[in-house]
Formats: sequence, structure tokens, C-alpha cells
Amino acid sequence: MKVLKFGGSSVANAENIQKVAAIVMANTEQQVVVVSALGGVTDALIKAGTLAEQTNETYKEVLKELEKKHLDTARALLPVTHQSSCLSMIKQQFNELEEICNSVFYLKELSLRTKDRIISFGEWLSSKIITAFLQSRHVDVEWLDSRKLIKTNSHFGFAAVNFETTNQLITTTIEAVDKNIFLAPGFISSDNNNNTTTLGRGGSDYTAAIYASALNADSLEIWTDVSGMMTADPRWVPNAKPIERISYQEAMELSHFGAKVVYPPTIQPVRQKNIPTWVKNTFAPNDAGTVIDSTVKHDGDIVTGISSINAIALLSLEGSGMIGIPGFSKRLFEALANANINVVLITQSSSEHSICVAVNTSDAVNAKEVVDKTFEIEIAQAKVEPLKVETEHSVIALVGDKMKSHPGISGRMFDALGRNGINVRAIAQGSSERNISAVITHADIKKAVNVLHEAFFENVYKQLNIFIIGVGNVGGKLLGQILQQQTFLQEHLNLQVRVTGIANSKKMLFADNGYDINLKQWKEALKEQGEPMQLTKFAETIIQKNLRNSVLVDVTANEEVAKVYEQLLSKAVSVVACNKIAASAPYSHYIELKSLAKEYNALFLFETNVGAGLPVIGTLNDLRRSGDVVTRIQAVLSGTLNFVFNNYDATRPFAEVVKQAQDEGYTEPDPRLDLGGTDVMRKILILAREAGEQLEMEDITNNGFLPEECFEGNVDDFYKSLLKYEDHFKNLYNKAAAENCKLKFVAEFTNTPSGNKDANVGLKHIPADSDFYHLYGKDNIVLFYTQRYPEQPLVVKGAGAGADVTASGVFADIIRVARV
Ligand code: ADP
Ligand code: ASP
Ligand code: MG
Repeated sequence: MKVLKFGGSSVANAENIQKVAAIVMANTEQQVVVVSALGGVTDALIKAGTLAEQTNETYKEVLKELEKKHLDTARALLPVTHQSSCLSMIKQQFNELEEICNSVFYLKELSLRTKDRIISFGEWLSSKIITAFLQSRHVDVEWLDSRKLIKTNSHFGFAAVNFETTNQLITTTIEAVDKNIFLAPGFISSDNNNNTTTLGRGGSDYTAAIYASALNADSLEIWTDVSGMMTADPRWVPNAKPIERISYQEAMELSHFGAKVVYPPTIQPVRQKNIPTWVKNTFAPNDAGTVIDSTVKHDGDIVTGISSINAIALLSLEGSGMIGIPGFSKRLFEALANANINVVLITQSSSEHSICVAVNTSDAVNAKEVVDKTFEIEIAQAKVEPLKVETEHSVIALVGDKMKSHPGISGRMFDALGRNGINVRAIAQGSSERNISAVITHADIKKAVNVLHEAFFENVYKQLNIFIIGVGNVGGKLLGQILQQQTFLQEHLNLQVRVTGIANSKKMLFADNGYDINLKQWKEALKEQGEPMQLTKFAETIIQKNLRNSVLVDVTANEEVAKVYEQLLSKAVSVVACNKIAASAPYSHYIELKSLAKEYNALFLFETNVGAGLPVIGTLNDLRRSGDVVTRIQAVLSGTLNFVFNNYDATRPFAEVVKQAQDEGYTEPDPRLDLGGTDVMRKILILAREAGEQLEMEDITNNGFLPEECFEGNVDDFYKSLLKYEDHFKNLYNKAAAENCKLKFVAEFTNTPSGNKDANVGLKHIPADSDFYHLYGKDNIVLFYTQRYPEQPLVVKGAGAGADVTASGVFADIIRVARV
């Protein structure tokens, strides 16, 4: 004997019911088939009843639609010759149902008892239609009236089964009928007075388990729309995978904490009889599915699954009057129990003067009332505060038999949540040590489930969600590099770099569930599908999406963009900036961003601020972290100026060389930032700061070489004035050449042991024996003199400008965020 249960989606329409019939007919063992109402019908029936109660006449339309749905399904399934009795049965049922709803309408009252009566029609109808269909296919099937066989108390909406009577009724009925296939409605039952009761939402699973247990079935099969119990809710976690084998206890915990694929009470009856229970997919019947049994697992994952419950309210009872006085928690729990309020979770409260519990939001108002009443006197005496109620929370739970024998799981759990800026309000560990659960705000739940899934199941890969702002020259190259490198990163670093948002100054575009930004055609996509760029909205979307491992990548040189870092870092979004504005802003701001990053466990990285892709800041950080002290930095840091002075030999106009540098993408959008020295000042400032110095822009001496007039007007004016001053530039060149020197724009920072600090930038004559002499093209060079490198400096040298190298530096920072 086998019991099969088909859920609402498995019997949602005629097409699906055909699939169900195929599964039933393929089974040769004796079987009881339990079915749910056609998908969505229970909800619609509740809606009809509620509308009628509110004297809203549209309940009639809801009933009409439902009637049509059932009639259509029957017509599609049954040959014309078999239709009439089934169709008239459906019509008759709907007449009765309409009369009940009419009474509700006139009485303006929907009691739980009447509600059960109304919703029982769903399972009654579906089971009748499917029975008629199987009979039309010459299957010898006997319909069972679950209402008569499953006896309960009168707790309408959530009735408790009287197993003794029920088991007896089921066995005698089945034994009396010599049939191989029985078909029964799930969910419905009746009390001692033969009033219809129901077993709670999702209760058809339970019905099936009740039949299986009464009949000592060899197995129970729960056929649904997913290929088993999965490591997490597949609607939220795309990477969730079916669990091959799970213990009864684990399945119970998972479903108790929200894995609605199996209704929680289902497990108890099959567990008592040790009946193996399968969760299978009606739409992929050959998939293995999950088996729930008593086998003890020895291998595989430590955590078996993750689940969550929404609509949770956190109740806190606090007060100085509670310290040292026993009995407060007992009174709290008694008050809640007396009001029939189910406590979902009790936290391990370390403090004596507070108790914190989680309940369903629907119970919150009632809870506040009964608890405040219970502690009325203490509240009046200010020994206890009125109950604090916080709604909009969720519970997330890790479940696994093996968690008990593996310490450190909760550490990993909270580390992963913390790193993603998810604030944990309360924690509880089940006494069985089979679960750890935490209360978090509802807004974070989807992210939390994904974060934990990644931490515990996805040795496959870790996902980075990056939002790139400024997809011009460097940003465009970056996208190209990501596209090219994606597979490698996934295979070798288990890292999935997902471009979740892109923007330029005009448009912005976000990836969504089911929509990925196509990195091959991002330009067209941005242009055609992008919405107008709004910086605040861009930042808010990043926060609102609340994705794990989110990174803002700023590839602009824009001041406004730099202003959003603060907001993002304080939401645990990491920032990778190519933009130098933030790191060279007033020191207080720079340090504020650094401390925000630290506080929220995010990273604020800006390696490309100095030397493009060269490891300049990284090297400096390593020196300091390993205890070294920087005494002097000498550097040629402007790829642009280097290019310009390497290419200028007074034979063609200086302006032309500058233009070439701009055309080849080495300059800032306004080349004066490079030529005037500001860019180099920013860079040496950032290096000095990273070396531990509290320095401001004003502390740096700029020995610039551009005539004042060049700074006036726009970029076009600038080029004109360069032409005008050609003699000035010729003069600079010739003077250096006369000394056999080259011109280099050098930045210097000195920090002598005596405390002399100096930072300056300026054009210098570089003789042939200098480290700086052989510096070609757009190369940069940085010399670090430190306590460990007092005479021979540590040298970093190489291409210090250009879209490709800058993009690769940004890319390296992005990967650093993954901490792989
Ligand atoms: P049925 O109508 O067959 O009873 P349900 O809707 O009650 O189906 O349950 C199946 C659904 O449960 C799945 O479609 C899935 O979205 C959801 N679900 C939630 N958590 C899990 C989980 N851990 N494993 C599988 N499914 C889950
Ligand atoms: N039809 C009922 C419900 O939707 C029972 C079930 O499908 O399990 O809750
Ligand atoms: Mg279900």
C-alpha cells in the first residue's frame, strides 16, 4: 500500500491532471490518492466568504469564476458521454455554496465554522472531478469521503485529529472495499457533530500522512511542483538544490521554519510508523526527489537546509523590576498560551531584565493586550515597561542533524550575515541543537537566505553584485574585461561577478530577477532599455535591491558621485573608486569613509587613484601592515605629464602633444587637472595619507609650470592659451636639454625622524643617473623609502595611465571585495 498526494499546482488544470493520472496509472501497488483543491481555489473561496461578510456583492462574481473554472476543467477532461453527471454535480455544489455565502452576506458574519464549510468545497470538488476522470479512463477507483473518515475536535480552521477513531474508520472502510485505487479529498475532516472541519492551510499533506499511518503504508509520496525539499526556498534562492535524503526531524524543523513544501504536522504520523516519505515533482516525475526517513546521514553538508518565516513580530518585555525575581517569563508564556498565541521563537537572553520572543504578526495586537494586562501592576509601579512590539521582522533558520557535532556553525552564520550588513535582532538555538534561528528585519530576509545559502552550500561560487557608474572609456574596458574573465573566475576562484547595474551620465540600467545585463551588448541595452540617470535613485536602488556582496564601482571623476559613498558604505555596500575625489577630500571625510567601511564590514578601495593598475597603494598598505614606517616617497605619478614631456621636444607645439595625450585617453576630462599639478597633488596626498599622515591639499606645495592664463575659460580656451605660450614651453625644454636633463613632474613626501614633514609637486630637471630618467611613454614610478628600505627604495614602476590598465586595477579591487 502506498499513499500519493497531489498538491494544488499538480491539479491546477486539465493538462496537469492528465500528468497526475499518468503517475497514478503507472503505479501497480494498491494506493490511496489524496488531492488538494485545484490551484488557487482555497484562496478564492476565502475571498468569496470574506467579501460576503463585508456585504460586498462581488463575492458572486468570484463564485461564478470558480464555477467556470471547475466546469471548464471537467469538460476538458471528460469525454462528452461522461460529462453530464459531473457537470450537474458541480452546478449543484455551487448552488449550495452560493446559498451559504448569501447567508454570510445577510448575517454579515463569517464564523470559523462557516469558513471551514466554504473552503471544504475546494477539495470536495477536485476529488470528485479527478475520480470521474479516472473512471472515464476505465480506472477502477473508489472515492473516499475524508470528512467522514478523519475525525477531529471542533477547533475550526486548525482542527486536531482524533487518531484512534480516525485510524479505525480508515482501516475498516478500506478493508471493506476490494479496490486497488482509492481517491480522497485532502484538507477536510469533521468533528463529533459532523460539522466540517479543516486541518490548517496546506493540510492536504497531513491528510495523506494520516491515511498512510492508519494503513501502515509502505511509503508516502508528496507530489508537488518542485523536485524535492530543497536547501532553500527556490523562489528566493536560484541556486537552491534538492536535498537527496533528510531525516524526519530535519524535515520537521525545516517545515516548521517555513519550508512550506511539506506542511509541518505531516511528519509526525509517518515518523511514528517509520514510513519513508518522498517529495516528488509532478512535472518532472523522473527527478530523484527527496526521501524523508530515519536514516542517519554521515556524509554531505553539515547544514541540511535553510528556511524562513515572514510576518514575525518581536515582543520584548523589559524592566528593572525583573532582576533577581523569578517567575516573569513563566507569567509571560502563560499569558501568551492562554490567548492561544503561538511563540515561534524564544531567544537566549543573556540579560536578566529582558525577555524577547517572536510571534506571528497576526497575534501581535492580541499579545500586547494580554501581556500588558498580566503585568498591569508592575507597569503601574514602573517596574516593568509596557510590552514593546516590533513588526516587519522575519525568522531565518539553519537546520541540520549534524550541526550538533560541529561547533562554529553559528559563528559562520553570524559572520556571513554581519559581513553583508544584516543586523540580527535575536538569536535562538533549538534545544535539539538541530537548528539555529535568528530574527532579522523583513527587508533583509531574501538577502539573508541567499547569503547563508552561499556560505553553507555554494562551495560552487560566491556572487559579487557590482554596480558600475561611468561606463565610458575605462568603464567600457572594465565591462569587456569582466566579460572575458567571468568563466575563469567562476572556475578558478569560485567567484561569480555579476554586473547588476550600469550607468553613464545619461542613462542607468539594472539587472533584475530574470534579466541580466548582456555584457556583449550593454551599450545598446543601456541606450534602449535604460531609464534616465538619476544619481540618488541609482544609489537608492543599490540599497533597496539589498543584494549580497554589493559593490559600487565609481569610474567617474565626478564630485557628486563621490558624495554617495557614505550612504552606501553605511549600508555595507563596498565602494571601489577610480574617482580620486573622495580619497583626496578633506582629511575628516577620507577618514570618515574609512571608518564607515570598517564599521559596516565593507571595503573602500581606490588602488587606481595612484598609478592606475600599478600596485602602489597595495604595496604601501602591505609595508605598513607588516610594521614598516615610510620616511619618504618620491614619485612620477602623472601618466599624462610623462607622456607629454616624453613626447615634447620643442619641434611641434606643446598644445599638440597635450591633445594627443587627451585623444589617447591618458588625461582627465579636463587636462588642466593633470597639467596644473592638481591631479599629482591629489595622488601624493593619498599616498601620504595611506602612509599614516594627516595631510590636507593645502599642505602640499605646487611648483606648477602652467602660466596663470591657461586656467581661464573652458577646455577649448585652454588649448588656445597653450599655443599662445609655446615659447614658454620651449624655454622649459631647452633649459633642461642644455643640462642634459629630462623634464619630469615629480611628487615628493618626506617624513624625517625629527618630525619634518613636507609634500610638494613640481617640474624638475632629471639627470641621466636618476631612477626617473629612463621613464618612457606614460609610465609611472614610485620610490618608497622606509625603515626597512632606507637607502635602496622599494620601487614600483610601469604603465601608470590608460584605460586598459586602469580598468584592470579597478577589476582587481572588485575581486578584492570578494575576499576569496
Ligand atoms: P502544493 O500545492 O504541491 O502543496 P506548495 O505550494 O504547498 O505545493 O509547496 C511547494 C512550494 O514550496 C514550492 O513551489 C516552493 O516554492 C515552496 N518551498 C518553500 N521552501 C521550500 C523548500 N525548502 N524546498 C522546496 N520547496 C520549497
Ligand atoms: N487547499 C488547501 C490549501 O490551499 C490545502 C492544501 O492544498 O494542502 O491550504
Ligand atoms: Mg502544500
